[in-house]
Amino acid sequence: MGSIADMLPFLGNLKELQEMLGDMAVYPRSTLEGKGIFFFLGRKGKEKLLGVRARLEEALAPFQGKTVRVKEGVLKLCPLTHKNALALREALPQLRPKPVGLRTSAGLGDRLGLATPGHVRAVRGTGFFPVFAQQSIREMSRTSRTPEQVLDDATWGAMQEGWTEGFGADADHLKTPEDIDACVRAGFVMYTVDLSEHVDDRAGYDDPETLATKYEALSWEDLEATSQDLRRIYCGRSFCAGPFTFVLTEEALLRAAVKYGRAIVHTVEMYRHLADRMEEFELEVSIDETSSPTEPEEHLFVALELKRLGVRWTSLAPRFTGRFEKGVDYIGDLNAFREQFRMHVAIAKEFGPYKLSIHSGSDKFSIYPIAAEEAEGLVHLKTAGTSYLEALRAVSELAPDIFRDILALALERYPQDRASYHVSADLSCIPDPKFTDDDVLKGLLDDFHGRQVLHVTYGSVLKRFAGQLIEVLQEGEEIYYGMLERHLKKHLTLFAG
Ligand SMILES: [Zn+2]
Repeated sequence: MGSIADMLPFLGNLKELQEMLGDMAVYPRSTLEGKGIFFFLGRKGKEKLLGVRARLEEALAPFQGKTVRVKEGVLKLCPLTHKNALALREALPQLRPKPVGLRTSAGLGDRLGLATPGHVRAVRGTGFFPVFAQQSIREMSRTSRTPEQVLDDATWGAMQEGWTEGFGADADHLKTPEDIDACVRAGFVMYTVDLSEHVDDRAGYDDPETLATKYEALSWEDLEATSQDLRRIYCGRSFCAGPFTFVLTEEALLRAAVKYGRAIVHTVEMYRHLADRMEEFELEVSIDETSSPTEPEEHLFVALELKRLGVRWTSLAPRFTGRFEKGVDYIGDLNAFREQFRMHVAIAKEFGPYKLSIHSGSDKFSIYPIAAEEAEGLVHLKTAGTSYLEALRAVSELAPDIFRDILALALERYPQDRASYHVSADLSCIPDPKFTDDDVLKGLLDDFHGRQVLHVTYGSVLKRFAGQLIEVLQEGEEIYYGMLERHLKKHLTLFAG
């Protein structure tokens, strides 16, 4: 195999390539090379194609597509299938998902599989390590996508924009070992375990007798300790973290143990399941979806217990004080948030270090400067639905009639679809789409009520409109990318201060 310089006549330049391909447009940033193959992504009408070119035909054997005669070497044009995505990731390590580690990072979920090029543009130059492939099992089932598709779409999107600085893949909000298996098969590297169903939210209000009974009834065998052991380890002991000292009284211990005991057991089970299947992976522990905030002492207890049981994790998502409603800014006392966030950071530094993960993290503009100041980079910001809202914004520009129908369905579905989400939108604040101007309807994407209604109804909307939506967005992709770039860059630059 020759050096890159030897290869140059075969690689060609963009202009030559374009002449060769006739009516097929090449994404200018998508040209990459590796293993003696020259790669690019092109678009012919509605279809995107992967182009691979090499001196010898056998170099292109892993890629399935149509061979095109060219003056020198061989060129293949390949559909964007899963097999071709696998071959591409095999050939170009920079397009394989990577562990995120302790770098400041942002999760950019993409429910439609079209957003990554916009995400790349938003992230470029910000210093954030991006997680382009990120989808919860709930989202995958509501959007009828598989873990493989999620990863492949992120791969194609990163390639289209020539992003070679690496990206993560977060199998988000996993609840069962079967969820893990599906994502391991697809090649995800980050695993977020969702413990919300295993948290006893009542523990904060239980009377002492109930609390003591519940405490004794924890599954001590799985906790690999006795109820006495834990009392001995924690009661009355003080733990220093940065400028703070936390003391667990017996009552605090019992409340923390009852609230999170089963969640800890579940984390251990999920962690060991993963460790049996993968050598290199990272874990995010998520206890954000509970009704009461995670007190710093509770966070401390969870961290110490997970450590005692041999779990290693990269990030942890507490339920912060205040309201993190979908698609809108933080609702709550910013000083109280800062004070509590500071304690969570101190614990994460002292007993990790690991990152604090901010879930439902999009659009929380008022807390980003605080989080940036306090966490000093040890933070992961997780967003998902906000990119779907930008997709709807693009549709409201490009196809106002479709947007009008989407809104009508969203209004109809909101009372049911809101059930599993933290939202408080009031339907009576939204005008009847039948009798409202396009411009007013567009404005709902900047309105508290409009955003929430559109945010939580995506499953219902996609069931009926996915085909139309995707067609509009593909047609007007540059507009969509521009909106994503503007909106998400606004998030990330606030972190930079
Ligand atoms: Zn979450």
